[in-house]
Amino acid sequence: MSIWSDLQDRSSGEITRIEDCYCEYIFNPDDLSPTSNSTLKIILDIARADFEFGGFSSLEEMLSTLGVTLVISPATPTRIVPSGISEWVLYWKNELKRLESILGKDCKSNQLYKDAQKELEKAQKESEAWATMAHLGCYDRFQKEIILYPNNIPGQDRKEYLVTTFVHEAMHAYFDRHPRELFPYVATVEEPLAEFGMLLFLKETNNTYYEWAYRNVVSKETCYRYGAALMDRYEKGDNQIRQDLESYKRKVF
Ligand SMILES: [Zn+2]
Repeated sequence: MSIWSDLQDRSSGEITRIEDCYCEYIFNPDDLSPTSNSTLKIILDIARADFEFGGFSSLEEMLSTLGVTLVISPATPTRIVPSGISEWVLYWKNELKRLESILGKDCKSNQLYKDAQKELEKAQKESEAWATMAHLGCYDRFQKEIILYPNNIPGQDRKEYLVTTFVHEAMHAYFDRHPRELFPYVATVEEPLAEFGMLLFLKETNNTYYEWAYRNVVSKETCYRYGAALMDRYEKGDNQIRQDLESYKRKVF
């Protein structure tokens, strides 16, 4: 066995060491001790950038105030399609069955049936896009954890994916909304907002990954891509959209 067997691919960057794929870190602006974990180092550089958002001056300040822990996990989970999307598929399947029973054997030439078929195809395409999207990270509201899965990050553009995923999850941590299992429709609202917040962060911190991130969001086949449309509006001078983003968070009563 090679002595380098613990390395996936040294040439692809500095975040590929297996020993860097596990860590738990509680955000704390007072702790400036150096870290030997290169994945964590990348995250901390990002978290410490000056960013005025929601009354905080950096993501680090935000996440430490909210008591969020960062977990860098070696796991490689697959994504679960939100139930709201699955129900959308089921709805049109049932609708087709209903039309078949009403219209009988000639149903396939009926316009209503054809329209329903198109809607089912659309829903299935969206569901498929969710299922095949790499699961790079998540925010667990009950544990107050941002969990990143570096082993699920594609070989190319690893650092870009790591940074954009972290900032996206930091937005979910800021929103701190109820999990989408309880409110299935929330995903289609919250994911574009998290993408918008991520783009806003990269833009305002002059991060060189902004162009890459914007192109990546635009290319997505799921509702995530609307995050780029929100950014377009903001760039055209619609400041209300930023206020809406900041006020989307769960109110503390
Ligand atoms: Zn998300």
